[in-house]
Amino acid sequence: MRRYLVFVVLLLLAACSPSRYPDYPDIYYPPVKPSRGLIIVDPGHGGEDLGTKSLKPPILPEKNMNLVTARYLAQALEAKGFHVLLTRHDDTFIPLKERAEFANERRPLLFVSVHYNAAPNKSAKGIEVFYYKTDPKNPRSQASKVLAEMILASLITGTEAPSRGVKHGNFAVIRETQMPAVLVEGGFLTNEEELQKLKNPGYLKRIADLIADGIDRYVS
Ligand SMILES: [Zn+2]
Repeated sequence: MRRYLVFVVLLLLAACSPSRYPDYPDIYYPPVKPSRGLIIVDPGHGGEDLGTKSLKPPILPEKNMNLVTARYLAQALEAKGFHVLLTRHDDTFIPLKERAEFANERRPLLFVSVHYNAAPNKSAKGIEVFYYKTDPKNPRSQASKVLAEMILASLITGTEAPSRGVKHGNFAVIRETQMPAVLVEGGFLTNEEELQKLKNPGYLKRIADLIADGIDRYVS
């Protein structure tokens, strides 16, 4: 009986003694949102391939503007809940076939290649979006056309740049990819008026945000 009482007293003491572990406030785990899907963003050119460039110094190479825009685009798409992969992260040359293969292996929802334009006629300006047009019954081609239309509409409304339309383009990255794919030409480096806007990273961010809005509308 005494042994039993000692046991009970020890048990009570243990129960009343302060816990060895401090009370942590409840840790907040933000709800894990399921990804809306994978999007591949392709900054055109890179490395020794400058793409086009501005006509007068300081020379702005297209490859740099593509990368800046693509990074802004990745941020904007991630903020909308997409998972994003870039075909290049820095100033390196990636062959076009490799870019398409990179996308095909990962089966994304869609593929967007980012470029800026040039023309011998210095008055040429505006935005155009290319897709690879095949047989009108081809579902990938049709989906690419709709995606191109939505991105162009968003860009034209948001920038008030002239629309050069949605066009067929025989470019490897949109021809060899197996998912809806478009190539955006966001303005002319050879047009003085557009060049002044394109020099501003804030304008490139606006272009990226508007491309993301067009994609959002297409996916929704
Ligand atoms: Zn280009």
